[in-house]
Amino acid sequence: MQNAQTALDKVVILGTGGTIAGTAADAGDTVGYTAGQLGVAQLVTAVPALAGQPLEAEQVAQLDSKDMRFDVWLQLATRLAHHLARPEVVGVVVTHGTDTLEETAFFLQQVLAPAKPVVLVAAMRPATALLADGPQNLLDAVLLARTPGCQGVLALLGGTVHAGGEVRKTHTYRLDAFGSGDAGPLAYVEADRVRALRPWPAPRAGAVERLAGLQSAPQPWPWVEIVTSAAGADGRAVQALQAAGVAGLVVAGTGNGTLHEALEAALRSAEVAGVQVLRCSRCLAGSVIEVPGALPAAGALTPQQARVALLLRLLHVD
Ligand code: ASP
Repeated sequence: MQNAQTALDKVVILGTGGTIAGTAADAGDTVGYTAGQLGVAQLVTAVPALAGQPLEAEQVAQLDSKDMRFDVWLQLATRLAHHLARPEVVGVVVTHGTDTLEETAFFLQQVLAPAKPVVLVAAMRPATALLADGPQNLLDAVLLARTPGCQGVLALLGGTVHAGGEVRKTHTYRLDAFGSGDAGPLAYVEADRVRALRPWPAPRAGAVERLAGLQSAPQPWPWVEIVTSAAGADGRAVQALQAAGVAGLVVAGTGNGTLHEALEAALRSAEVAGVQVLRCSRCLAGSVIEVPGALPAAGALTPQQARVALLLRLLHVD
């Protein structure tokens, strides 16, 4: 059983949409549904075990996370900073779609690196499914947000907890659809207890300044794209993007971040012309190990994470 809570153990639940808030006309339909239909207060009400707990629900957005926007990220980071600063709040849960959860989680960890838990929770099936996973995931997320000593941006689905800076979606439809590459999960939620496997993400000072930097950054935020090296690759995509004004390019290379020579030549000319280039691997796990003379490498970051890292660098808030 959970410990008795006091009003000082408040958990705030911020809603942003996603499949966890999705509905379908037919309970057997786990694909042809519409994401982001139910309000966050309805999601909380659907979990009887949350009744009577000191919770607050706030709707920050209502979208399918495939359509996530930078203005929503800014709003979410701003509301998170507000709630995390409240002494009575022990942690915050964010309901989110699974499609871009890894990008939001990475962004929030880089910007906030909080000393309290921020748990991104999602579902692979809509709320109307015969066997919906959202309610259990939400209950687990609140438990995690109340776990003493827990901190950092985390992602939770199917009883598995990942670090926000490492998580990535690895499967198109299974309930346990997330992984952390070589790093592996951070913890498991087992019934009503949390079993941590390694330390929670460390907090980093300067969140207020980084958030202020984002809030005052000129709009739109810098344009960063991902290009991929592959058989038959050439420099045309890079040249077209450069001509269109791209500010940063992440390249998903083969193996240890190796690049087709024609693509590399175009990237090097773009870099000379002022485009920032960051090299990672299209492999599903592993770090890119630096070799002398190569384009700058992004270590263990996935191309999606590297894109956010480069965006933040261009915004001068990394
Ligand atoms: N398209 C949905 C979303 O990302 C998928 C999901 O949540 O599972 O919002």
